[in-house]
This record gives sequence, C-alpha cells and structure tokens, in this order.
Amino acid sequence: VNVPEPKPAAAIFVVSKRGAVLIGERSASLAFMGGFVAFPGGRVDRSDAELALTLFGASDDVMRAKAAALRELFEETGILFDGERAHAVSPAMRQLSAQQAYEELALRPDPTRLIFGGRWVTPESGIARFDTRFFLARVEEEVVASPRHEELAWARFEMPDRLLDAHRRLEVLIAPPTMFALQVLALGVERAPERLLAIPEASGAESPEFESLWGIRTIPLRSPTLPPARHTNAYLLGEERLIVVDPAPYEESEREKLLERIEVRTRAGAELEAVVLTHHHMDHVGAASFVAQRLKVPIWAHPVTRDLLRDGIRVDRTLVDGDSIDLGQGFTFDVLHTPGHAPGHIILVDRRKGGRAVIAGDMIAGLGTIIIDPPEGDMTEYLQQLERMRALGPNVLFPAHGPPAVDGPKKLSEYIAHRLMREEKVRSALEKKGPSRPADLLDLAYDDTPPIMYPLAARSCLAHLLKLVRDGRAAQNGDRFAANQPL
Ligand SMILES: [Zn+2]
Repeated sequence: VNVPEPKPAAAIFVVSKRGAVLIGERSASLAFMGGFVAFPGGRVDRSDAELALTLFGASDDVMRAKAAALRELFEETGILFDGERAHAVSPAMRQLSAQQAYEELALRPDPTRLIFGGRWVTPESGIARFDTRFFLARVEEEVVASPRHEELAWARFEMPDRLLDAHRRLEVLIAPPTMFALQVLALGVERAPERLLAIPEASGAESPEFESLWGIRTIPLRSPTLPPARHTNAYLLGEERLIVVDPAPYEESEREKLLERIEVRTRAGAELEAVVLTHHHMDHVGAASFVAQRLKVPIWAHPVTRDLLRDGIRVDRTLVDGDSIDLGQGFTFDVLHTPGHAPGHIILVDRRKGGRAVIAGDMIAGLGTIIIDPPEGDMTEYLQQLERMRALGPNVLFPAHGPPAVDGPKKLSEYIAHRLMREEKVRSALEKKGPSRPADLLDLAYDDTPPIMYPLAARSCLAHLLKLVRDGRAAQNGDRFAANQPL
C-alpha cells in the first residue's frame, strides 16, 4: 500500500515579551486536526515563492516556508509580522491577500527574525502528511487576533502553561508538535529554539504517540487492516494504572514499538493492569497475547469475543455492558456492549470529571468505512448502538483507525443518516428490479461506489436487506429478496 509523501508546510510560534503564544483552535469541521489547538500554519503553496521574493528577496525552500508561515499567520489570524512587532490589520484589510497586506503597510520583515524551530513530519498513519518547518517570531506587544472562522474557532495570545493546564482539565485537544512546543515555551523563550531542536521529533523522527486528551494516548501501529487504513490505534489509557486497548500488530518491530510506549509509563511508576479488546477482528488482536505474556497481564473482553477467539487467544476476564474499569484517581471507564459491527464489540466511555472521550473501536472510522458483514455484522443492532452512543452526548470519539472525531454526536448523526440513505437506495433498487440477490442491486443501490469495492458492498447490501426483512419492508426467499408493498 502506498504511503503518501509529506507535503511541504510551515507554521509559526509568535511569542510575546511576557511569554504568551499566539495560538488557536482549529474548526471542528476540518478533516485534518479539526478541534485541536494548534499554531497558525499550513501548506506551502504556489504564491509563496512570489511572496518570499517580495518580502525577503529570495525564494529558496526555506524562504518559501517562511513566507508561507507569514501568509498563514495573516490568513488565519489577521496578523502581520514586521520582524519585531505584530500588527493586527483593519477589517477592510482582512479581505486582502498576504502579499497585498504586507505591501499596503510597506512591511519588510527581516527573515532572520523568523528563527528555525524544527521540522516535523506527520507520521505514516496520518490521513494527510506534512513536512512542516516551524519558525519562532518574537514580538514586543500582544495584539488582538481576528480568526477566520472556517479555519479557527478562536485565536489569541495565551500563556503556554495555561494551555497545558487546560489540557490536564480535558478542555483542549493537543497533538505532538504543539504539545512539545508548549512544554518548551512554558520554560521561557530565551533558549527555546535550541530546546525545540533538541527534541528528536523536531528533526523528522516519527512521533510514536499522541496524548490528544490527558490520559488517553493513541499509538498508531501497522496492522493487516482494510485500506485505505494501514494502522490500528492502540490506546494506552490511565495515568497510574493503565490498560492498553486493541494491541493489533503482528510485525515484530511494531510490537516492540508498543511495548516501548508501555514501558516508558511503567518505568515512570505506572502499572499495566490489562489488555482490553474491543472485538475479535484480526486487525485488533495481533499483539494481545504477546503483550499479555511479556508484561504478565490478563486479557479482558466481552464474553462473545472470548468465545470467538477461543482457538487463538485466552481471554482471562469478561467485560459486560454496565461494567466499570477503575484506573484510580477518578479515572474510570464504563463498558458498553455495542454489537452491530461485531457481536462482542464493546466501547469504553470516559467517566472522569470533565471526561468526554469514547474509545469507539470499529463503531466509527476516522479513515475508511465500517463494514457490516452478516451474520456477524447486524445492521439493525449497529444502528441501535450508534443511536445509543449519540445519546451519550458531547464527546470525542477515538476510533481504531484514523484520527478522533471531535464532535461525536454530529459524526454519529452523519453515520446514521448515511446508513438510512443507503437503506432507502437498497429498498428502491429492490422495487425496480424485483426479486434479486444482493449483487444484482449494486449498480443502483451503490452507484456511488467504485466497482472494485463491490464484493464488500454486496455484504453491506445484504445487511441492509436483512434489516428490511426484519422491518417488514422486504421478504426473503432463499438467497433472493423482494420488496414488500407498504401496508
Ligand atoms: Zn472490526
């Protein structure tokens, strides 16, 4: 499977005299890092060569990246940097391009005042990949940002330690480059560039984990899963007492990577309690016995999962709907049994004070789609459980594949609407075609799906047909289905 090449990008840490940083929260609707707190930044685009020439008189890779950082700063926050000061532009100037705005105010920032602070590459598991140069810009005074709302929910100068506290209170989501930068900048700006560059990830080493929310560490690991996903997220939950959810890899190097992440915690005094499996699929359980044996911990899963794994993996304790996993210090997860994708599927609901996370397994996907494959997949149950999850209210859904969904109820509503839309297409295809097998209906019911996906679509179509039968809207005769006339 092809790994996408990282695209050149740039970002900027604007730091004021008292040590506050200009930072914002990306809009929840953005596919890449939506809902995360982040510094202004984005892809280096074509116009940046010209902007670099105008501002700096040169347009090599570094100058283009510096121009891109300033352009993104302007586009996202309405702020210009002249080398010493930040300028908040008037609302009228907000309509201009960065090039026009710098020309309008005749600003020519000295490029050496944009100090290199590292180069971060999005890990292979990212849904989009960037090779981002970070630059540090020190300014005299703080100014008021005017965030562009398609990109940022808010933007302002904020003290780094206050943001780190907000992360501890589960109020904000933060990804690795931002997290490391805040930790460095919280110690003061003086030697910040050197300290930033001392972080291995700042020179291209892959970030092995993300602690997007305090106490919830995502470790993406290569696994034999369904494309376009190539990884399964293991989740390391807790602070003093830990559980690891869905250790998936079969490859030795990926298993060692997971072990190393756990051992970083246990060396610091934490204790691993158990391996927890959301369900029995092979792209979730590859390293379960390996971790259990190496670290001498039990494996916990739903009784149905235990039975399905009986021939390969020994489940030591069963978890059922309504159980709680207590990890100490108020860190509790409730277990919900959510069949539909897999009969023994469970999710874990964060019950900490201020907790808003759900470890969602394969109920949703940050990348690719969820397969409902009868008889183990059941569309009626799946939809019921999506609705039950939605009723949990505002939450961040951490899926087994891809990034989290930061607006859980909205994501779940989209999932439910999409399945109901498909159900209607299947039903109307059945009406048009008369008695049919699932494969006969695909050209109509899955007309938006590439034919290469038809074998999977046929399974999903069957799941919809079985639900229609259960709802009294279709009848089954052997492997054929027919529409029932509405009563
Ligand atoms: Zn699965």
